[in-house]
Amino acid sequence: MLHIIVCILPLMFLSLQIFKKALFVIKLMPKLRIKFDKKTCIGNKACMAVDSERWVNSEDKVDLVGGEKINENIYVLEKEFNEEESKIVIEGAEVCPVNAIGIVNVDSGEEIVKVEVSEEESKVVEASYDDEKEFQLDEKGYFLIKVNRENKKIEVAFCEKPNEISLTVKGDNPLEIYQTIINKEKLEIRKDHYAYLGRELQKAYTALRENIEYVQDDELDFSNKV
Ligand code: SF4
Repeated sequence: MLHIIVCILPLMFLSLQIFKKALFVIKLMPKLRIKFDKKTCIGNKACMAVDSERWVNSEDKVDLVGGEKINENIYVLEKEFNEEESKIVIEGAEVCPVNAIGIVNVDSGEEIVKVEVSEEESKVVEASYDDEKEFQLDEKGYFLIKVNRENKKIEVAFCEKPNEISLTVKGDNPLEIYQTIINKEKLEIRKDHYAYLGRELQKAYTALRENIEYVQDDELDFSNKV
């Protein structure tokens, strides 16, 4: 009995090593399937910025280098990638804002980057808010927002104390203004105050474009032309 165990043990050990090596190779060189839906692509080229080896310019969209066209809009590329390449391929797919790029690990079947938005685990809540009862003043300060029709700019002032402006930001659109206020000037305010700022900026922007009156905190009246 002992000599049988003595004979089997090295074989088991060898098999284990081969198995571990195979796993190692699979892990380092996964075969990935990249699936690209060109119709969904909006051409912001974010994938190209991350993974210029896989994605190239194609007029107002991109092309998947080496991708095989499997129907009118879908392109597929199946290939083994080393660990470093895999990371870039996956990151290139993850930055797509419209889920036009899906990635599947062909060996394991794992869907690494999904193209469909899953709602299975989602909590669904009916929104409710009573401004009169639930409004909370931000102790950090308040915004004064107006539109300048001469230079077509939106002007945002922030007061830390009543009637004392501590910051003024002028800009052409909501995105550049709130990015400047939040991420460059690093204004620290309540979360709902950030949301308020975004809402008012969009209203001011619409009022400028549509040539209608903008009054902070009031709803836009599209019949009230200036
Ligand atoms: S990131 Fe997505 S939407 Fe943007 S170009 Fe690439 S595939 Fe198209």
